[in-house]
Formats: sequence, C-alpha cells, structure tokens
Amino acid sequence: MSEIDNDTYNRGAIEFSTPVQFLKGVGPARAEVFAGLGVHTAENLLDYFPRDWVFVPPPVKIVQLKAGEEATVIGLVESTDYQSFRRPPLFEVMLADDTDVCRIVWFHGGYLRNQIQPGQAILASGKVNLYKHQLQLTNPKFIIVDKDSPNPGEAISGAVYPAAASLTSARIKQIIRPVLEKIDTLVCEIYDKSFLKKNGLVSRMDAYRWIHQPPDEEKLAQAKRRLKYDEFFLMQLGLALRRYRNRHCCGSVKIRTGEEIDRRIRKRFPFLLTEDQESVIKEITADMCGDEPMNRLLQGDVGSGKTVVALYAALLAVANKKQATIMAPTEILASQHFLSIERYLKDSDVKRLLITGGLSGKKRKEVLEQIKSGQIDIVVGTVALLQKDIEFERLGLVIIDEQHKFGVEQRWQLRKEASPHCLVMTATPIPRTLAMTVFGDLDVSVIRHCPPGRGEVITRLVDAADRPKAYEFIRQRLVAKRQAYFVYPRITADASPSAELAAATDEWKRLSKKIFPEFSVELLHGQMPLEKKQKIMTDFRKGKIDVLVSTVVIEVGIDVPNATIMVIENAERFGLAQLHQLRGRIGRGQAKSYCLLFAALDKSGDNETASSRLDCLNRTNDGFEIAEFDLRLRGPGEIFSTRQHGLPDLKIANIIDDYELLVLARRDAFAMVETDPMLVKAEHKNIRRVLVARFGDSLGLVDIA
Ligand code: ADP
Ligand code: MG
Repeated sequence: MSEIDNDTYNRGAIEFSTPVQFLKGVGPARAEVFAGLGVHTAENLLDYFPRDWVFVPPPVKIVQLKAGEEATVIGLVESTDYQSFRRPPLFEVMLADDTDVCRIVWFHGGYLRNQIQPGQAILASGKVNLYKHQLQLTNPKFIIVDKDSPNPGEAISGAVYPAAASLTSARIKQIIRPVLEKIDTLVCEIYDKSFLKKNGLVSRMDAYRWIHQPPDEEKLAQAKRRLKYDEFFLMQLGLALRRYRNRHCCGSVKIRTGEEIDRRIRKRFPFLLTEDQESVIKEITADMCGDEPMNRLLQGDVGSGKTVVALYAALLAVANKKQATIMAPTEILASQHFLSIERYLKDSDVKRLLITGGLSGKKRKEVLEQIKSGQIDIVVGTVALLQKDIEFERLGLVIIDEQHKFGVEQRWQLRKEASPHCLVMTATPIPRTLAMTVFGDLDVSVIRHCPPGRGEVITRLVDAADRPKAYEFIRQRLVAKRQAYFVYPRITADASPSAELAAATDEWKRLSKKIFPEFSVELLHGQMPLEKKQKIMTDFRKGKIDVLVSTVVIEVGIDVPNATIMVIENAERFGLAQLHQLRGRIGRGQAKSYCLLFAALDKSGDNETASSRLDCLNRTNDGFEIAEFDLRLRGPGEIFSTRQHGLPDLKIANIIDDYELLVLARRDAFAMVETDPMLVKAEHKNIRRVLVARFGDSLGLVDIA
C-alpha cells in the first residue's frame, strides 16, 4: 500500500486513497452515489465485489458454429422479420460475418423491433441448435456493438455489480478498469510462497483482478477462495492477537489448588458431578492456576449444571483468599444465582452478598466498604451495578452470566483493568461458527449433557381449536400437584391495531377467574418491584403458586423442578433460541414435562419461517442443533454484526457457507501468532500493515505496529 499522495491527484497515478471522484467517468454526482454504497476511495472500489458473474464463450466465426454448443458470434444484421402470426410470435434476424450467415430467433421478441435494425453489428451468445437443417441461435443474450470495438464481448460477460441509480453495472466495470490495470502497484502479497502453496491460494493481485474480471469460472473460484480466506485470516489474526494480549499483557492472580481444597469444595455439592462438569472444572482449574489470566467461555444448555461449575471456580478463588463476583444481566437473575449459591453454601463461612438496585444510602455505603476492605468473598449482582463504582480489595475471579445479552463490548470494558480470571457463561448454545468469530478470542468449554435423572420434555404445537383440551390436560397435571408456566409476548395490551398479541396481564385475569379458578394463579413481569418479584418466585418455588403467568422474565435462571408444564402463547413471535430457553425451564425434575406452543400462523411468508422454527423445536431438544438451525434460518447478519463486535465486516466470506475455509484460516492465524506474537518478523510485515489498516485500533494493534 502506498502512502497518501499529498500533491494534487493526478489521474494517471491511482492510489488506494484516491477518491473515486478522481477516477475517470466519475463526477460529483456519481461520487455521491458511490458514497451511498460505502465506496469512497479506489481501495473501497476494489472491495466492492460483483454480486454475480456471467460467462459467455469467446466469439467464433459463424462457420464454426456447432449444434448443441454454447457459442458467441459477432456479425452484421442482414435482415429482420417479426412473425406475429406464429405461436409463440417470434423475431428473426439473419446475421452474417465474413464466413457464413446464421439465423437468430427470439420468441415473443416483438419488443426487439425497435432495437435491432439491418446494418447494425451485434454480438449474440447462446445455445446453437438445428432448425430445419439450419443452424440457429435461440433466445441468445445480445448487445449491439460498435463495429470497431476492440473487445465487444467484454460488455456482456464478466462481473455484474450491485447497481444504484446512474451507476449501472456496466458503468462500474468501466470505472474500475484503470484501477485494475494498476493492481500490481496497489495490492501487495501478504503471504510467502510456501504459505500460498500449502493452502492452494492464488496471489492477492490475481484474486482482485479475477474477482472483477474473471477470465473463466475456474479462476473466479480461485479468486473467491483467496479473498474469502483473507477476510477470515485477517479477522482470526485479530482475534488471535487480542487473545494473546489478554493473556500476556498482565500477570494473573495466583491461584493454587490441591486435594484438600478440591475436597472441601466438592463437599458443598449434594451430588456427584457429571463427566462434563468434571472436565470443565479441570479446564478452569488449569486456567486459574496458570500464569495467564483465564479468559474462558462456558457454554451449556439450560439446566446443564453451569452454576455448580461457576461456584466451584468461585470457591477455588475464595480458598486462595481472593474475592469472586458473579454478574447477571438482570436483577431477577442475579437473585436467582444468589439463591442457588445460598443453598449450596448453607452453614459455610464464605461471606456472600447480593447487591441490588434497591440498596441505597448508608446501607449501600457500608456494603461497598465491606467489599473494598475484602470482608465479602462472593459478590453477586447485575452487570450494571457491579461495573459502576464497586471496588474490590483482591478480586480474583469475574464470572459473567449470559454474556450475549449485553454485548461483547462491555466485556472488554470490564477486562481492561483486569488481571482477574474471567469466566463467561452462556445458556444460549453458540453455534460453532459464532464461537469461532464473535467469541473467537476466548477459550471455550462446553457442557453437553445434562445431569442424569431428567424427565423427557415433549413439545407440541397446539391448534387453536384444541385449546379447551389443552387446558383440561393442564388441569389434570395441576391436580396432581404439578406446576405450570404460561408465557406471553408482552405485559399489557396496547391500543395498536395489530394488537392481536395476548398480554400477560389480561390473560392472567382470564386464567385465574375463568379457566383455573380453583388454583393459585399469579402474575410475574419485569416491571414489578423486585421484592414482589422475589416473593412470587419464592412462593412458586415452594409450590404455593400453581400457575405462573409471565413474560420472558422467566427465560433464564429459574429452576423449579416441579414445574412440568410450559405454555407459550404467540410462539410465532419468539425467536428460536428464546423458545428453547423458555422450554429449558421445564424438564428439570424427573417427571415428564410438556411444552405447549400456541401460535397464530397463517400462510404468509413470515409465518413460513415461524412454522419451520416451531418444527425445529418439535424435532429436537439439542440446543446446539437448534442454534445452528436458527443461524441458517436467519443468516449470520441478523444475529450478529461483526462490526458491532469490533471485527471488520465480512464482504465476501460467509461464516456458514464457507465454514471450512474459516476453520483453515483460524488454524493458520493462531499458528502464526504462536510463532510471531507481535508480527515483527520481516515476512509478516505486509500482513501487519494490512491488519492495522483494516482494524484500526479496534484490536489494539496500532500500538504493536
Ligand atoms: P444451569 O446453570 O446450567 O442452568 P444449574 O447449575 O442451575 O444449571 O443446574 C440445574 C439443576 O441441576 C440444579 O437443580 C442443580 O442442582 C442440578 N445439578 C447440577 N449438577 C448436578 C449433578 N452433577 N447431578 C445432579 N444434579 C445436578
Ligand atoms: Mg443457572
């Protein structure tokens, strides 16, 4: 890459930074259209990839035409004839070159009468066939060409750009041509020969040339592969560097373990740990006892036993006289965590504390003082509260639950000052593709299997007509002392005309008065005061409440094994991952559980995906399978934007379709950082330059450059 030329922009000297407006064929008006497409400079233009590519074979002489082949010919129009009496009507052209004459027909070609006239030269490309012993082209693509044009085939073949307003695809092709002519001076190779060979990659210059002007499909495929690889590689390199920096920028809080500590912690759990829990605890222990701060993502479906693992880690920190904090996205989840920790830590000396938003004034000051002076071992609260103004005396471990809910940015905020170990937990299974990108700088642990003795969960999409039957079915379970959740997409009905969504408040009245008057039916939603929420949760846990009517506040964290029924209304309004989360609230005990989905499905396109989502839930309980399916259904862009996560946007690569290339690039990038963590080796000079140009300081790379 060349430096910005501070002199006037000379049309002959195109550089990466040359504004598109200074390219031939672009004035202020087109420059504005380009700006709307995100194209400001020559470099942007090179990265403005075609959306499609058309291949027409090189022109041949008419005498060379053979029936059955695809061919392109150029010739003079001798005559035209519109035969409207034919069925279908057709437009006929006799085309001649210096070797022969052939017939071209376009069915329904009446509109061509105004376009094609005798005496013109045209280029036509299509399938050659035999008609009454004569060779002819049927419905070919065509363009009218300038008789002296040096390369008339070019206009019809090659790249097709996403066009806008006055910027047609053909125009963009013209504008980019001089830039491509300079490609060897603009683009530099970033890998050495052996690397290219090993990965079967063409040069970066060829890749850019061929993506815009592909000589054939084979070369186009090579160009795509190279450019996709580069996008993945640079992204992964950024992640690998970020990971390296996180591990090496600061020393870790020293943690040690031993048989005695391990035994004392395990004594807290009234069950044997599952195989998955054991292996994750092993990984976490190894991390925490290492020289580098832990930076690990723990994934496990709802109910898989993550809390136990988190508590193990927290107690390991506490055993080393360090403090631990557990952060949840909401107060209700924080208090859930606190409650389950309380259960395990009954009669223990470990000082634990729940910080709530309600805490204020003198009491709050006191509590903060206790944390600061190190009197509290484990602090539980929301991310918002804990990130605000709380100081620890000797923080050794930060556990963040449900990370995806508050974005990765906050993670870095938290981590900046931090040498404590960090464990991020999520109950939303992250598809492998996202685990490698958005979370690609973390080490990943997975709990795949739930603790034993869980009852089966049966999921059914219930027809509106069968609603009374469903209520009856639920009644029988309630009579048998089971409990049920009813979940609604919103709290209260609003006045909007599309207000066909059931609302929790209204439905709560209906259910408690009309449907289940003999049972205790309570309402729970996010806007209630915390104390009230907690009281209802506790009563539900104790079995004093039979039916809990709620919004998605119960999505995560609630653990009531006796609740075996989950009714979800307007299920078409919920995302797949969310539905799966909700369903995870049941099936926590040994009894069989039932998830009943009601959905307003008609035949519209929207509902097609809604119903395939619901089918997926019917089909499987495997959170990872569901997450992968969800990603496919919605496309990666819907779920996450790379830019939002401090990663550059992917322009040509797709994490789902190009998964194998992603794996390859990730392996190579991490290996490179392993051998040259600062990218200071001479052969990595260009890579580092490109990396800094792409990422800016979003990955903290500038300071290593
Ligand atoms: P998660 O946080 O992943 O949703 P939890 O840690 O809350 O899961 O565990 C869910 C339920 O399983 C809890 O009731 C917990 O007591 C129980 N549990 C966890 N680990 C085990 C185990 N190894 N054996 C039996 N029950 C377990
Ligand atoms: Mg949990």
